[in-house]
Amino acid sequence: MIDLHSDTVYALWSRGGEETLLSNSLSISRDTLIRGGVRGQCFALFTPMHEHIPEGKRHLSPWEILNELHDRFSTEMERAAIPILTDPSQLDDGALHAILTTEEGAAIEGDISRLPILHSWGVRIFGLTWNYENELGYPNSKDPEVMGKGLKEKGFEAIEECSRLGMLVDVSHLSDGGFSDVAATAKGPFVATHSNARAVTDVPRNLTDSQLRTLADHGGVAGLNLCPAFLHDGKASSPEDAESRICDMVRHVMHIYRTAGSEVLAIGTDFDGIEGKLEIRTHEDMPKLFDALRDAGLPPSAIDMMAYGNAARVISSICPGGTQVRR
Ligand SMILES: [Zn+2]
Repeated sequence: MIDLHSDTVYALWSRGGEETLLSNSLSISRDTLIRGGVRGQCFALFTPMHEHIPEGKRHLSPWEILNELHDRFSTEMERAAIPILTDPSQLDDGALHAILTTEEGAAIEGDISRLPILHSWGVRIFGLTWNYENELGYPNSKDPEVMGKGLKEKGFEAIEECSRLGMLVDVSHLSDGGFSDVAATAKGPFVATHSNARAVTDVPRNLTDSQLRTLADHGGVAGLNLCPAFLHDGKASSPEDAESRICDMVRHVMHIYRTAGSEVLAIGTDFDGIEGKLEIRTHEDMPKLFDALRDAGLPPSAIDMMAYGNAARVISSICPGGTQVRR
């Protein structure tokens, strides 16, 4: 399995306690990944902005925060002896690998020359925005005016540079206008690492049918997000009470499959960035989802592609000379 999005590094960094990737109360630890059969786990360096910056970190600039997060990532992977994926052929050994990603393009503070630094760290997926406007573009929003806004000049420059370096652009969290600009500009595949179907659950973080088809046309993928708010419309009394249910995941996956085909399916759990009563609490629970999808009529080949093949294909596509994926 490849999971295209987690906030585990941010969770460990922001909590500031004794927890590590080896021992914690989170969804993701080295043991849950290995027991869950994960071969590629994306770890996002999520750079918080404004009120989301933890107390005690507010004196830091976004770039300084990103560097702290990267230091933490490096320390955790070294301690847990998890190799960082820089070449997709590493996946062939069947062992667990960390795939480094970023979320919130404000981290580079508008300085495109920092993207090669990220690439040298191992970053292979670059998220243009989180839920705020930044130097690159505008976020997903309930406000139609914001939602319609496209990329800024530096956003286009960032896409160009990502393409040159071999980093995938991530449109999860981006405005609809930004999505259209990425689709019109990107030379190869791009991804929505953790977004569901807006036709099933009408929230701006999810993708329209047309966006799902566009992603598929570009050879990209949309990773299934397990966040309750993106899976169903039900209102919970508190975030902790919100339910992340397998039956809703099945509705989204089947809709995406019927709308955009099997090659766009992927997984982006958003583990350790989501709250609620999670039916899939760790990767060890994932077979329950695959069983439910099989029962709903998703062909076994499509389940395999969703779990691994599609994400491996798209990650391979950014490497020099590599678009072939061995299973
Ligand atoms: Zn996110």
